[in-house]
Amino acid sequence: RSDAAMYHAKRSGRDQVAHYDSPARTSVDTRRLATEELRQAIDAEEITPFYQPVWEIGREGAPVLHGYEALARWRRADGALIPPSQFIERAEADGLIGALGRSIFRQAMRHLRGWRNRRLSMSVNVSVRQLVAEGFAEEVLADLVELGVEPARLCLEITETQVMEAPDLSLAALKRLSEAGVFIAIDDFGVGFSSLAYVRDLPAAELKIDQRFVAGMPDSRKDRAVVRTVVELAHSLGMRTVAEGVETPEQLALLREIGADLAQGYLLGRPQPPEALLNLGPLAEGEDPPPAARRARLK
Ligand code: C2E
Ligand code: MG
Ligand code: MG
Ligand code: MG
Repeated sequence: RSDAAMYHAKRSGRDQVAHYDSPARTSVDTRRLATEELRQAIDAEEITPFYQPVWEIGREGAPVLHGYEALARWRRADGALIPPSQFIERAEADGLIGALGRSIFRQAMRHLRGWRNRRLSMSVNVSVRQLVAEGFAEEVLADLVELGVEPARLCLEITETQVMEAPDLSLAALKRLSEAGVFIAIDDFGVGFSSLAYVRDLPAAELKIDQRFVAGMPDSRKDRAVVRTVVELAHSLGMRTVAEGVETPEQLALLREIGADLAQGYLLGRPQPPEALLNLGPLAEGEDPPPAARRARLK
């Protein structure tokens, strides 16, 4: 029998099992329920972006607010706050990542639009499944026009590992977006296996140094060497660098000495719900960094 026939035989066999009150049935139903719950949460905008500040650290003096990264949080009706590790992969597997990603993106653009400080940029994470979907770039650009946000205020982040999954397919969409003025960032850089040729050829403007390397600083000589090398690589390719997961003033001071351009992390601000920023943060021109970060200024 052909592979296809075998496949169908196996499938129908499995479906038959699912009609009995067996564990198989329970797990199929549970999964269907979970998918339905996720779909409803997306439609009701129960999954919303939280915002973590990103700071310019490349110049002298105190860090200056550059913008925010949108990080998805599921705020369930019962008050539970669910992190992306609990639903992003499921959304990808269940074919819901397109709807989820677009919802996060549109909410983030609406918030950005409402902030008085027009200099701020917004970084949004995208999954490779969105990127390779037909018409993705055009949809993003049309949304930007509809929502009245300039392309240059948007940065789309894609992880290094995901870019490697579909390098050819992702390239066209990334080129289109970048030519239209959208910034592209390679997220979690350094933990994947991308060759230097990919880094050279991708139309990315930003490398985000994975927090694993930052976590080892300042003590680990090897981590310091990796971070220094990535910053040099980025600069010699005309790209800027973002250090992720900055938690201590010592890390920040060393990153500034090395020449990283931007930084984010708990030291500089945790992800906050949108309503926290409506009342405080980005409304004013140039927010003050937290005291611990202010002390790590350049001499
Ligand atoms: P990421 O894009 O690399 O985001 C950075 C993660 O590090 C966030 O975790 C953030 O809360 C956390 N973080 C920030 N500062 C610090 C720090 O100083 N120390 C430590 N230990 N962690 C810090 P989060 O929000 O749980 O997100 C995890 C990942 O989920 C993200 O990693 C991103 O890959 C993915 N993700 C989040 N939102 C979305 C989304 O809307 N769409 C897609 N496709 N993926 C998303
Ligand atoms: Mg990111
Ligand atoms: Mg990252
Ligand atoms: Mg990550």
